[in-house]
Amino acid sequence: MNIHEYQAKELLAKFGVPVPAGYAALSVDEAVAAAGKLPGPLYVVKAQIHAGGRGKGKFKELPAEAKGGVRLARTADEVRAAASEMLGNTLVTVQTGEQGKQVNRLYVTDGVDIAKEFYLALLVDRATGRVAFVVSTEGGMDIETVAHDTPEKIHTFSVDPATGFMPHHGRAVAKALGLTGDLAKQAQSLAGKVYDTFLGTDAAQIEINPLAVTDDGKLMVLDAKVGFDSNAAFRHKDLLALRDETEEDPMELEASKYDLAYIKLDGDIGCMVNGAGLAMATMDIIKLNGMFPANFLDVGGGASTEKVTAAFKIILSDPAVKGILVNIFGGIMRCDIIAEGIIAAAKEVNLSVPLVVRLEGTNVEKGKEILAGSGLPIVAANDLGDAAKKIVAEVKAA
Ligand code: GDP
Ligand code: MG
Repeated sequence: MNIHEYQAKELLAKFGVPVPAGYAALSVDEAVAAAGKLPGPLYVVKAQIHAGGRGKGKFKELPAEAKGGVRLARTADEVRAAASEMLGNTLVTVQTGEQGKQVNRLYVTDGVDIAKEFYLALLVDRATGRVAFVVSTEGGMDIETVAHDTPEKIHTFSVDPATGFMPHHGRAVAKALGLTGDLAKQAQSLAGKVYDTFLGTDAAQIEINPLAVTDDGKLMVLDAKVGFDSNAAFRHKDLLALRDETEEDPMELEASKYDLAYIKLDGDIGCMVNGAGLAMATMDIIKLNGMFPANFLDVGGGASTEKVTAAFKIILSDPAVKGILVNIFGGIMRCDIIAEGIIAAAKEVNLSVPLVVRLEGTNVEKGKEILAGSGLPIVAANDLGDAAKKIVAEVKAA
């Protein structure tokens, strides 16, 4: 689960990390009022979408020369003008894809004078199984470019969970950033607090870019992206309130209500499978037969009629789907019950595209009989290879 920049900064501030003062705003008037509560004379009006690259982004509705989703303003009128241009319009950045994201919220912050921009991130390093710091003096810009062109400018080290964050980790951050004296002290303290935030919220990622040195010698977080490990969500009921469902894919959101693991993909063939491994294999074999999966969908071990119906509806609500391949292994679930679920679901959703079903496992013969006798145009398949060939042939013939 990801959250907005303003929420990330409020969270970091709770753990003592220095961030500029700011207020979220849902309307132009709220944005102007927010600026009124800040000291000035510089304000930053920032589009709140779950995507980075806002500064260099472009609004679809505005002329190409118009400014992006992060704007500096010096007066209430400039804040008003920036807010009016952004709210309701669609911001396209390197991370949103061509379709962009509608801006429904703004964050108005105290503007600071920047002397230097750094990069600091914490993430779970799968290789070491530890929380790792990624630090670079090359902040502000696209870190992927830095990693590609000048990898020596990125410093990485992990923290042993047995000791937790130690003073030497703080010194390593300061050194990687080339800081000395008071700024080095600030970096050590800030790094420890960001680490506390990471552990305290079961974060999966905290990315600060830029971490700025201000003209008056202060280290501050100017932009933050925080994502949480959803497996730990049950421990953080308060964080769930930060979820902004309008930022999530509507189909993935619907799937999460039924506890279905669904990820939208770019192909034509909708897949309904139980078990992640079987889902992967199904996607692979569709590709092997020359077409592409429209989604990954794992209905899980105990797929009920209700779940199967919900899964069908989700697959069919995707206009890209030209055919459906159901590949279910009846282990704990019996194939006859699955077949009944498929028929009930297919009737309820008014199936309009070819459907190939491959069942295997307990009571498979009975399951196949039920499908054959349903009167629905369901194509039965004998094994995974056969199923993939059949759905590809059906879609090409349709
Ligand atoms: P992003 O483009 O989505 O990563 O948004 P950021 O919040 O990182 O802002 C983009 C850029 O705007 C930063 O790299 C800064 O150069 C600039 N910026 C953001 N906040 C301030 C500020 O308070 N003062 C100044 N002068 N520039 C800022
Ligand atoms: Mg940024």
